[in-house]
Amino acid sequence: MTVSNKPEAVILDIDNTVLSCDLRRALFCSEILGRHVSEEEVRHDLYCSRLLSGKMQERYFNAFLSTRLMSVDVPYPLAVDTIEVIRDRGVKIVYLSGRFKSPADKEKITIEHMKRHDLYKDGDVAIFKPSSSVHDRDFKKDAISSLKRKYDILWAMEDTPRNLRVFKDFGIFSVGITTSYPPIRFDFADLVVDGWSELKKLIEEKNDCAFHDKNDQSNVQ
Ligand SMILES: [Mg+2]
Repeated sequence: MTVSNKPEAVILDIDNTVLSCDLRRALFCSEILGRHVSEEEVRHDLYCSRLLSGKMQERYFNAFLSTRLMSVDVPYPLAVDTIEVIRDRGVKIVYLSGRFKSPADKEKITIEHMKRHDLYKDGDVAIFKPSSSVHDRDFKKDAISSLKRKYDILWAMEDTPRNLRVFKDFGIFSVGITTSYPPIRFDFADLVVDGWSELKKLIEEKNDCAFHDKNDQSNVQ
């Protein structure tokens, strides 16, 4: 077995993985529909397709892609605590997000917001999409290739099966969090958790941030 001397890292998506965007999404739907929409109504419906159709959905996407109301996003319960446990063990926190730097600069707003919520601390890494015109998957593929050269990636977590699949395809231990999709959509994942408390419990029980067997050749990167 090749023993890696690269620093260990975990890769985390931001939207609906560490930060819940459900309130922001519900507020946009409220504006469009002209009635109160609860977070419950938009939960597990990332594109709000149950509530909105055609032109309405287009308005929703434009609003979501803007920087408006980004400050209402909040960390999921125990996300901050769990990330702190991982950091304390010397594992690098890498945020890899489809939030883009152009045409609007979501990077600056996001970092400031995450700092306020103790999600982003000195030493963390955050990589954002250069432009809204780049496809999330292509951006993440490129970023993962360079991150793999630099770090021993213990696992990666995503709320969307489509993006999580990219990590799986790179041989990275994939963790699905069921904040946006039901567990059945993550049937290919190496681990599925229903929230951060479950993840925290697993890390504490194992007394290790890695979920895979480090002696297992299939996970050697
Ligand atoms: Mg996401």
